[in-house]
Amino acid sequence: EGIYDLLAARGVSRRDFLKYCGSVAALLGLSEMYAPQIAAAVAAGAKLKPTVWLDMGLCTGCTESTAQAGNPNVADIVLDLLSINYMETIMAAAGAQAEAAKTKTIEDGGYILIVEGSVMTGEGGNTLRIAGKTGLEVLKEAAMKADAIVCVGSCAVDGGWVRGNPNPAGGKGVIDVAQELGFGDKPIINLPTCPVNPEWIVAVVVDVLMLNKLPDMDDKHRPKLIFGSTIHDNCPRRGHFENGEFVEQFGTEAEVKQWWLYKLGCKGPQTFTHRREEHP
Ligand code: SF4
Repeated sequence: EGIYDLLAARGVSRRDFLKYCGSVAALLGLSEMYAPQIAAAVAAGAKLKPTVWLDMGLCTGCTESTAQAGNPNVADIVLDLLSINYMETIMAAAGAQAEAAKTKTIEDGGYILIVEGSVMTGEGGNTLRIAGKTGLEVLKEAAMKADAIVCVGSCAVDGGWVRGNPNPAGGKGVIDVAQELGFGDKPIINLPTCPVNPEWIVAVVVDVLMLNKLPDMDDKHRPKLIFGSTIHDNCPRRGHFENGEFVEQFGTEAEVKQWWLYKLGCKGPQTFTHRREEHP
């Protein structure tokens, strides 16, 4: 099926799709005039891209978040362009069948590897074992022949809460072990937050797989266009900040007027990411 068949089957009009592509363009830092090109790239990319989605030490919240993507269902469709040959949590196959699907994808090469969860290095890597192998072995095997590695969620990026002191599982981010495991030369794209925003995965999929380029990244391997500014930079309450208008206490008129919340705990000035409303 082509992309427009998939759209029609889900009740999404071309107009909605183009509008969504305009939002993806904005997320990629392009003018909305690029929407038709992005739509064309997505349509042309409608051949399925093999994907292996590895679960390390995690709560599966990122899987859940991704499974719930939809705006309006277009994110689903773009994500459908990935042929997720192995994804423990939601795949129908189990056991030897599931492992065979993964092994075949890895042997064929040319796939994208998505990693969710913290890399557990404790007890010589034995804190996590999958199909008779340590989590470290599973990660190494899948990473070596991947075209690109996308780390989704804070756990995969830097160990997340699994890494919390005293960290008995030896939780680490994928990038922390990449050199040691021999895949330090692979393109690694980090999408932190807990859980990951599936629309960012869509933007990366469009950027890397369909427009055939890596996003411009910061020193933490995060796409700059998503993580290059603070929430405070584009906050709708910013004008109140400029005027020195703060909410000092909940339940006051200042709160009703939506003045600035910094004194009540807002972390917008320290938080580098897009505001939700800016997402496609
Ligand atoms: Fe769960 Fe958050 Fe880790 Fe994702 S980043 S696996 S949601 S704890």
